[in-house]
Amino acid sequence: MAALVPVTRPDELIARLTAIVGPRGMVTGDDLAGRPATRGGNAPCPARALVRPADTSEVAAVVAACHAAGVAIVPQGGHTGLVHGADAAAGEVLLSLERMRAIGPVDTAQRVMIVEAGAILSEVQQAARDAGLLFPVDLGARGSATIGGMTATNAGGNGVLRHGMMRENISGLEAVLADGTIVDATNQLIKNNSGYDLKQLFIGSEGTLGIVTRIVLRLCELPSEEATALVALDRFSTVGELLRRLERETRGALTAFEVMWPDFYEAVAGPEALPRPPLALGHGYYVLVEAGIPSEELGENLANLLEEGLLADAVIASSEREREELWTIRDDVAQLRRFGSLRAYDISLRLADMEAYLADLRTRIATRWPGARLWAFGHLGDGNVHVAVHVPEDAGEVPKDLDALVYAPLQALGGAISAEHGIGTEKKGWLGISRTPAEIALMHGLKRALDPANILNPGRVIDAAPGTREGRS
Ligand SMILES: Cc1cc2nc3c(=O)[nH]c(=O)nc-3n(C[C@H](O)[C@H](O)[C@H](O)COP(=O)(O)OP(=O)(O)OC[C@H]3O[C@@H](n4cnc5c(N)ncnc54)[C@H](O)[C@@H]3O)c2cc1C
Repeated sequence: MAALVPVTRPDELIARLTAIVGPRGMVTGDDLAGRPATRGGNAPCPARALVRPADTSEVAAVVAACHAAGVAIVPQGGHTGLVHGADAAAGEVLLSLERMRAIGPVDTAQRVMIVEAGAILSEVQQAARDAGLLFPVDLGARGSATIGGMTATNAGGNGVLRHGMMRENISGLEAVLADGTIVDATNQLIKNNSGYDLKQLFIGSEGTLGIVTRIVLRLCELPSEEATALVALDRFSTVGELLRRLERETRGALTAFEVMWPDFYEAVAGPEALPRPPLALGHGYYVLVEAGIPSEELGENLANLLEEGLLADAVIASSEREREELWTIRDDVAQLRRFGSLRAYDISLRLADMEAYLADLRTRIATRWPGARLWAFGHLGDGNVHVAVHVPEDAGEVPKDLDALVYAPLQALGGAISAEHGIGTEKKGWLGISRTPAEIALMHGLKRALDPANILNPGRVIDAAPGTREGRS
């Protein structure tokens, strides 16, 4: 039977939360409505209140108060997530980590750095560089994404090929459970097999099992050399071979292998976007390659591959400015908005299946919505492709049918509906494509065990299983 939870009058809860965080920590009324409900949207935030605790003990007290009142909590970092996991609904309390941004100390001998969950990625990267080290997880939203949000979503990004996702770069963390209990698992050791590795429960669970408050990040050495190139190939069958050759010839120092299909390259480097593209339009595929080796060495490798006929063309950056220009091409996804509204997907599948899957998807979409357009690009070294689709505005209600066209074929291919963005509310209905019934049942079991009243980010990732309360009041 579901636990009975006392219901507090809304004004009583607000008064209680204000007593915990002080007036500076509370945002309500017009100030709250002035914040957007969704990332980049215009609709006002419908949450009951936005609470901004200043430290872990305040987070714990806020969570305990909401737990006692049976009110749902939505943790929010930089609100750059792409699956609506941090959008609050009416009646929910938004818990923002924006006042918890402390960075450090850095332990250069142990090569770890402790940060609060609200610390911004670009500031963390800079602090690591200032200490002569590298925090290697990097993504386009680095100026606003927080380490807490990135931990909660197990974010990936541009360096996964060499350094892994957040999971591989966290040695410990502190989290607040649904009843306000603080779990200090701020392990700094590389090896620690003392029982369950509890931090893994909170990494990638999108705020549904606990609020992450502090994180111990693993750092590595700054590369002494970095070489960046853009290459063109004519056949997809050679993309996998190029990846292997570059891994081998750079002796494992390859850090990025970002593939752009020709439609995408034309949109971001064609005449409407750039006066002069670094490589001519018209090739089959474009790959942005980066490796921690001298530019001359990468240049020699690429020259050999050109001679062998594996590559059709290549350019190498000779300055930091040129490196940034090459990355801007890959990151300039906003160019696609020129074509109208977009629906974006973040999927994973085996490299060997990718081209046939995309060709089939293009055909199905063109048949269903003549005039629709599809662009593909992504972290192909990790088997992760981003697909953006524009369906003509007069096509009526499309998302559900379009989602089905994108997701359904992934099941037979052993693909994933989310490579790195998470599930949030957006992909919840499709979880069964990538996870077995037994895996989903275990997810429900964990949720029931850690959050029996279902107050932590309810309705994100999975719906409340039978026997739990809905959590919203
Ligand atoms: C331009 C752009 C590029 C991007 N590129 C990438 C990319 O390459 N790779 C990638 O993986 N993602 C990428 N993203 C997505 C996004 O940046 C990541 O998902 C990021 O991890 C979200 O961090 P955030 O602080 O904005 O979290 P939010 O969006 O605020 O929250 C994300 C989720 O985590 C939960 N959450 C937030 N903070 C906490 C906390 N302290 N404790 C528990 N739960 C919490 C929220 O409830 C929500 O479910 C990109 C986004 C943009 C806009």
